[in-house]
Amino acid sequence: MSPLNDSLIEQTAIVPQEYELSVESVHKQIQKIQQAMKSFMKKDEHYGIIPGTHKPTLYKAGAEKLAFMFKFAPTYEINRSELKEGHREYEITCHLLHQVTGRLLSDGVGSCSTLESKYRYRQAKMRCPMCSKEGSIIKGKLEFGGGWVCYRQKGGCNAKFAITDTVITLQPKGKIENPDIADSYNTVLKMAKKRAQIDATLSACAASDIFGQDLEDTDVETTIQNAKDLQSAEDKIKYSLSRVELENVYKNLSSALRSGLQKQYQAKTNSFGTPPIASAPTASLPAPVASKVSHDIDICKASIEKAITQDELVKVFSAFPLQIKDQVREEFVKKAQSFKGE
Ligand SMILES: [Zn+2]
Repeated sequence: MSPLNDSLIEQTAIVPQEYELSVESVHKQIQKIQQAMKSFMKKDEHYGIIPGTHKPTLYKAGAEKLAFMFKFAPTYEINRSELKEGHREYEITCHLLHQVTGRLLSDGVGSCSTLESKYRYRQAKMRCPMCSKEGSIIKGKLEFGGGWVCYRQKGGCNAKFAITDTVITLQPKGKIENPDIADSYNTVLKMAKKRAQIDATLSACAASDIFGQDLEDTDVETTIQNAKDLQSAEDKIKYSLSRVELENVYKNLSSALRSGLQKQYQAKTNSFGTPPIASAPTASLPAPVASKVSHDIDICKASIEKAITQDELVKVFSAFPLQIKDQVREEFVKKAQSFKGE
């Protein structure tokens, strides 16, 4: 079979093409990657698991670790296309050579363009006509006179504008074309390079069945960010008090994360009768949460008193924070029964 001895396999791992790999050495290589994942590759740093998928996704840092371990030497071929309106696309081919033998192990391709929506668009932020600060304009609270305010805590100048003032209301809103597209050239170049490098690494290691290859629209940074967002969203859900708060957490999640959290979210929001966190006694909640709960209970009790019809009562009750529903159930039942008797 293979004329290579074990030590040479150990040393080079990926053997020159005139020698075929034995089943054993292929197995060894897979084991080596798996060992690397266990010992020095960290989840969310070198690879990640995207909600809704079961295969880990290889990140740039992970591709670099594998390249180091298997002695890959990458070279890149860059192809740049100028597109209309200052847009640009990079197509990159990554050639992976073996450092010791100099042989070509694999080619990987990756492209990226400023027309991808995350570079093409940005979220328009309102600009203060007085101090030119961007993103400091907020809707003033009614009890402080309403209107628009250039908010000091967002670095604003405290200027106030009427709610109908067109210097504010006519400013573009939502998704707008990024006016500084040239600022993204470097990012897009790096992204294309990264995609090519990961593609080449996966084929050189024959590791596509260990790592999922395609992130489709999700790039590496987004994936890492998603993992962090998911953690913080889970924390928020754990301590969120009201249905409204839960809904806000949920709304702010990207669709990829939403699918991962959907079950958890539904379990909490659909559990009108027995909300899972309702059973936790107030005392076991963190102190600030507990005091908010008891404050909210008072408000809820008051609105139960004010409810006139049964429908109103149900509506009031439905709007209650989840934990509180359980605690005010007695009042609710009593009141509902008294309506029944009328
Ligand atoms: Zn201002």
